[in-house]
Amino acid sequence: MQLFDAHCHLQDERLAGRLAEVLKRAERSGVRRMLCCGCHERNWDAVLALAQAHPEIVPSFGIHPWYLVGRTDGWLETLERFLLDQPSGVGEIGLDHAVTPRADEKQEAVFIAQLRLARRLKRPVSLHCRKAWERLREILIQEGGVGWGGLIHSYSGSAELVRPLEEMGLYISFSGAVTRSGNKRGHRALAAVSPERLLIETDSPDLPPAGAAGTVNEPANLALVASGVANILGRLPDWVAEQTFANASRLLAGIMKS
Ligand SMILES: [Zn+2]
Repeated sequence: MQLFDAHCHLQDERLAGRLAEVLKRAERSGVRRMLCCGCHERNWDAVLALAQAHPEIVPSFGIHPWYLVGRTDGWLETLERFLLDQPSGVGEIGLDHAVTPRADEKQEAVFIAQLRLARRLKRPVSLHCRKAWERLREILIQEGGVGWGGLIHSYSGSAELVRPLEEMGLYISFSGAVTRSGNKRGHRALAAVSPERLLIETDSPDLPPAGAAGTVNEPANLALVASGVANILGRLPDWVAEQTFANASRLLAGIMKS
């Protein structure tokens, strides 16, 4: 079984200090590639170093809506330099209406600037969206979709929104959150996703899937997400692994080392 972790944060200090064993366990459970997302300027260097040391780690750089405070005046130029210096995606970026303080205006300005940069540099985006689905949809329509494709990570939107998002160029990624038995909304959304748009992720070190040991998630747990997703869809874990690996490889082909 070959697995592609479409969203994780290996630079997080909960994982970075014991990365050798984390990567070994990932390899043993079939994880062949990981898209590793930076969330603010202060961790872009760490993401870059990881990707340079480990060819299976695909880097992505962005400013997450939780980390708007502390960005420098030159953040957008710095981001462009990181993106130009190596094949890489844009993210994690997005909108969050559940965070305090919300600062919608700032969130949207930073998000839109990064969407436009991704389009100009022809890079795929990794989107975060929490309780802001209507606004996300409006902005994506206004921006003409995501120019070079992208994914919505740990999808928590409705089943009805899946098709319109797919039509705007997005893949839909599910984390361990969907494997919880009470998550009926997640199960319905998962069932609505087109097979060729489906992705799976761990969001390590957050969101351990049902059945994972400990509270710090890691890419090796992606096998649990694959089997949880397979259960909900009435498919085999191998089908989920193969389909999502092919989908992530297609979406990220332009930024992966061969
Ligand atoms: Zn994340």
